[in-house]
Amino acid sequence: MRAGQDFSVKTAVSKTAGGVPHRMRILVTGGAGFVGGHLCAQLIVDGHSVICLDNLLTGRMVNIRHLLGHPQFQFVLHDVILPIPELGRIDQIYNLACAASPKKYQADPVHTFKTNVLGAINLLELAGMQDASILQSSTSEVYGDPLISPQVESYHGNVNTVGPRSCYDEGKRAAETLFHDFHESHGVRTRIARIFNTYGPGMCPTDGRVISNFVVQALSDQDITVYGDGTQTRSFCYISDLIAGLIALMAAPDSICYPINLGNPVEFTMNELARSVRSTIGSRSVIRHISLPVDDPKQRKPDITQARRVLGWTPKVSLAEGLGTTIPYFAQAAQPLMVAE
Ligand code: NAD
Ligand code: UDP
Repeated sequence: MRAGQDFSVKTAVSKTAGGVPHRMRILVTGGAGFVGGHLCAQLIVDGHSVICLDNLLTGRMVNIRHLLGHPQFQFVLHDVILPIPELGRIDQIYNLACAASPKKYQADPVHTFKTNVLGAINLLELAGMQDASILQSSTSEVYGDPLISPQVESYHGNVNTVGPRSCYDEGKRAAETLFHDFHESHGVRTRIARIFNTYGPGMCPTDGRVISNFVVQALSDQDITVYGDGTQTRSFCYISDLIAGLIALMAAPDSICYPINLGNPVEFTMNELARSVRSTIGSRSVIRHISLPVDDPKQRKPDITQARRVLGWTPKVSLAEGLGTTIPYFAQAAQPLMVAE
């Protein structure tokens, strides 16, 4: 299949209560990234027009290849730290622009911080001008290295302002503040999703995140690199669950402008994850412990009481099920890398 040739994404124009078709024009920044590619596709399936705006820093055209040429899809190459170009009417904005992998967001920390802060300001101003709802993809990183577990939204976090992760963590915290202030001072209709580690097909095989690393390593029988003693924990949400949560949050009443955790509360140590990936693949990889990165959080487990209560949302896909589709994806997507090595 060549880029721009696949028109197979079917649309179903949603109906309002009166039965009138309601097609929205939705801007997705970071739409060519892992989460963004899935979100753009789902919004088109739901019958909307999507403008994907991305600077391709970590985004990849392969994530939106099946949408290119679709009459309801438009790609705009642009960096959100710069003023947003004229895009016509916009009804909703999902602000996903920002590299999510520590390896990638630490490569240019000043640009990461600008993306979170200047990007948020540019998009909040656009939302205000267009009277659009705007959703911020915030993160569990706002809790830093949390001193309580599970992490509930009322916890204010434990974040280092001057470490290698600070550009991301503090940038996302500042963005939440901007969302709050634009809502309070200018009446902008805001939503804040605190996303916990999410995985699935579409991840970049070389992004350095733990699922990508472990699966690609296990598929090629290389050593699985566990950082530190491997007792640190993460809770992994499958991509389809996250997309359902983001869309539900955007559709929620305007009063839901406070942060909402979106994640799967089932927690694993990195040792457990390494063993699980290795046994699922039937790999001969050896598990090797190497040094732990600075400020690596020791635990992450979302309290999703709020998401269940206000959105009726709960994740459905277990890690075992999610790996069942993610492993074959990497087997294909990472093949050139494995051949090269
Ligand atoms: P990703 O790196 O795959 O996608 C990020 C996208 O943003 C890429 O397409 C990239 O090119 C684009 N981008 C980066 N800086 C930009 C800029 N200045 N201007 C325009 N585009 C820019 O990451 P992802 O996993 O898809 O994450 C999407 C969003 O969700 C991010 O904001 C991330 O912080 C947030 N999030 C993700 C996770 C996760 O586990 N995937 C967890 C918490 C939060
Ligand atoms: N990690 C690991 N080996 C790897 C990559 C990551 O043990 O090859 C660990 C990392 O130290 C962290 C966890 O896996 O404790 C999740 O890392 P990731 O970069 O995916 O996301 P984070 O939650 O740290 O932002």
